[in-house]
Amino acid sequence: MTSDIKEVLITEDQIQAKVQELAEQINRDYRDKNPVLVGVLNGAFVFLSDLMRHLDLSCTVDFVSWSSYGKDTSSSGVFRIMKDLETSVESKHVLIVEDIIDTGLTLHYLLDTVRARKPASVKVAALLDKPSRRRIEAKADYLGFQIPDAFVVGYGLDFAQRYRNLPFIGILKPEIYAGRGTPPDDIQ
Ligand code: 5GP
Repeated sequence: MTSDIKEVLITEDQIQAKVQELAEQINRDYRDKNPVLVGVLNGAFVFLSDLMRHLDLSCTVDFVSWSSYGKDTSSSGVFRIMKDLETSVESKHVLIVEDIIDTGLTLHYLLDTVRARKPASVKVAALLDKPSRRRIEAKADYLGFQIPDAFVVGYGLDFAQRYRNLPFIGILKPEIYAGRGTPPDDIQ
């Protein structure tokens, strides 16, 4: 499994230190606010589960899952809700937890959807950001790492549903996705 990785971009220790740092900021900002953490499936589940275990406050958790109408989420920007929130977020403080902001389309759509439900506030925690790929404005209020334009796996992020269990963020060897087209367009 790790032999499929060309380069470790962010180590397990670096991730864990950053998650703790982000959680400390969130602890300060959300004290007494009882936030709802909204995890974006599937990629964010590892980040969310580590992050929430460092939160020393009362919070709840819910999840959403999207799919694109077209083959390529990045280019179509048209989404369909596969799994909606199970709880109402009206008048609540929502913290969206994302694995990575790439084109920004997913986050943009999710923010619109959540804001339409009249929460008290909405903010975003994202582990990774690839600003060079942005197609629409999207910004994390709590950000782990900015990374270059490379397709990464690990710590929840997959290629063809694999590699989510790696404890670090790495770049796959090109031969792994050879013959399947160039990521990320065929892997959503
Ligand atoms: P966006 O809508 O911002 O273009 O893309 C967001 C989603 O695309 C992420 O939640 C993630 O599922 C997927 N994605 C974007 N870049 C990468 C990447 O480098 N690796 C993996 N595994 N998924 C990515």
